[in-house]
Amino acid sequence: MKKLQKTLAVIFCTITISLTNYFTMKKLQKILAVIFCTITISLFAEAFAEEIPLKIDTDFPGGNIKVLGIDGDTVKLQQDLRDTAGSWFYWSFRIRGAEGRILNFVFTEGVIGARGPAVSTDGGLTWRWLGDLGFSATKFQYRFGTKEKEVFFSQGMSYTEKDLNRFLEKHKNNPNLKIETLCKTKKGRNVELLRIFDNKKTPDFKVFLSSRHHCAEMTATYSLEGIIETVLSDTDDGRWFREHVDFFIVPLVDKDGVEDGDQGKNRKPHDHNRDYIQRIHESVQAITEQVPKWLDDKPLFYLDMHCPWLRGGSNPPHIEKGTNEYVYFVGIDPKEFEFGENSWKGVQRFGTILEKERKGTIPYRALNNLPFGVSWNTSNNKKTANLQKCDEWGATLPNVVFASAIEIPFANAERVVVDTNSAKVLGHDLARAIRIYLETLE
Ligand SMILES: [Zn+2]
Repeated sequence: MKKLQKTLAVIFCTITISLTNYFTMKKLQKILAVIFCTITISLFAEAFAEEIPLKIDTDFPGGNIKVLGIDGDTVKLQQDLRDTAGSWFYWSFRIRGAEGRILNFVFTEGVIGARGPAVSTDGGLTWRWLGDLGFSATKFQYRFGTKEKEVFFSQGMSYTEKDLNRFLEKHKNNPNLKIETLCKTKKGRNVELLRIFDNKKTPDFKVFLSSRHHCAEMTATYSLEGIIETVLSDTDDGRWFREHVDFFIVPLVDKDGVEDGDQGKNRKPHDHNRDYIQRIHESVQAITEQVPKWLDDKPLFYLDMHCPWLRGGSNPPHIEKGTNEYVYFVGIDPKEFEFGENSWKGVQRFGTILEKERKGTIPYRALNNLPFGVSWNTSNNKKTANLQKCDEWGATLPNVVFASAIEIPFANAERVVVDTNSAKVLGHDLARAIRIYLETLE
């Protein structure tokens, strides 16, 4: 392109010079000379202007990428695995200096989800999926607008501490919400603990909620926001929750991983969601110390929120084709836990309520819940006996009436779009189902 512009500039320059030879002769030639001169100057300016270099970086919360090379309009990339055992698929980067260009982004393996990359052109404030066109599991193409100076691309719709703070800011005057610190991380960050209760009342129930035991599973936190929105809302459900329930909520369990943009899943030697026996991670230590003291012999609803693998399996219940594109709850081993058998009954009862009460667009069917022993949910998944998941630990607590994990897909639930909005509305549906489940306990 630059070569063509340079050639054109030289041609126009020659014409201009030849016209100026007769400059004093005719009026029309004077006008033509001025026009050609103007075109020449602008062509030279464009042709020899410094090309803005592409700048790709991860210098923001949740950033994760390795740039392997830039060849013309093709950028070769790889997700940064860091301390992950095996491979995983999280990545997130910012690009500047690509205004007006069409670039191809090519990864070394399939790390692009069911609706392409998530894109943000407002500094990560809002996100959209690239859409049905222009991507595969390993590559995508993006046409940068002439004014798009800075574009963020990510495997999912990023959610870090700044997003949590923005959400909490909206509710800071709510007298029932207490923003506390669960603990400090290895790197000195605060792990937020949200408490919601009415200190003038004695609660009938305790509800524990968490997300980001696997730090890259951001969609789960949008749904968690949805639950909190309902609990704090001026609605019948909101008032019921504040009247009857005391909440203990840890939205970003692996806080360092969230902020640093780690994969989190299968972190060596083991990740946060396998840490409930060994307790090497600060937030797991804090949860296991503080939750038993908080319980106060009340019936406990215990839900840990996750996202599945990247893509595949939008035709439930054909689990042989994958379990990654629909919402489901995960059963714990009924033989290993005293509560196990009741836990599965509880999951199925909760599932029936959610299925009936659901108002949002994200589909849910109790039939999709994954009992222990099926698909990936087997004892092999834990690898060794001294590893325990968050929901399994929850199942060992006194007076537990529900203990499970939910899997919320990143982008696609039975062909319905999962995004920041629909995931939040799923949270509203979950909140309503929690209320009914607790109200109808036998
Ligand atoms: Zn997970």
